Amino acid sequence: MSRVQAKDIRIVLVEPSHPGNIGGTARAMKTMGLADLAIVNPGRFPDPQAVWRAAGAVDVVDAARVFDRVDEAIADCGWVVGTSARSRRVPWPVATVEQFSEQLAREDLGGKPVAVLFGREDRGLSNEELEWCNLHVVIPANPEYPSLNLAMAVQVVCYEISRALTRVANPDAGTEDPPSDDPPTNWDRSPATAADLAALYRHLSHVLSAIEFQNPKNPRLTMTRLRRMFTRIRPDQTEVAILRGVLTRIERSLARRPPR
Ligand code: SAH
Repeated sequence: MSRVQAKDIRIVLVEPSHPGNIGGTARAMKTMGLADLAIVNPGRFPDPQAVWRAAGAVDVVDAARVFDRVDEAIADCGWVVGTSARSRRVPWPVATVEQFSEQLAREDLGGKPVAVLFGREDRGLSNEELEWCNLHVVIPANPEYPSLNLAMAVQVVCYEISRALTRVANPDAGTEDPPSDDPPTNWDRSPATAADLAALYRHLSHVLSAIEFQNPKNPRLTMTRLRRMFTRIRPDQTEVAILRGVLTRIERSLARRPPR
């Protein structure tokens, strides 16, 4: 059994525009014992302001990896969550940062990383990016003004994760929090990665168009709802392979079908 550890947590900043927030994020992470920082398409980076705000956490800034696209930053992850202060058009599974951290600390993902996505300073995460996520995580805040500064949101999330990891690793330490009864998620196979699921969605969407279940010019919310179902049930790699096999069979029998 290998429970999630601090080294497995990847903080992903999606298109941050201010380099100061990158430095602030690095500092927030290092103070809580996290080090894996991924930055997708930053506005200005590298930048002296990132170094200045990082203070003693320049090593985290220096080790940060920059990606062009979100799917590249999360491809190897076994669990992906998105932080958001707002609810979206299709309701998604939502947890408070505390509930999420408690669940995370009890997960066994076979050593696969966990991605925690943070959005742009002005617009947050897009609907499409939020649909990549197994879970949406919210920091409970003032309903009239729930939007924290990006690096401060990272600090709150890293703090809760670090506390939960410590609590679960030292159950006898006599903390004030009662242990949760939720069982950890134990897999006999590895969970599907974000890249496995992305490939499944492409394949499924293609077949749904081929069998005329959806109109490729006007796909509506079918794929969104199916993505939500798959992120909710969190299939393992064998289950995804079975579904891909079924889709391939459908494609083959379509190819054999006489033209109408
Ligand atoms: N105006 C944006 C808010 C961006 S704040 C919007 O309406 O979505 C920048 C990022 O910080 C958000 O994308 C989210 O990742 C994080 N964040 C800020 N406040 C948060 C909260 N209350 N709960 C969860 N994440 C939050």
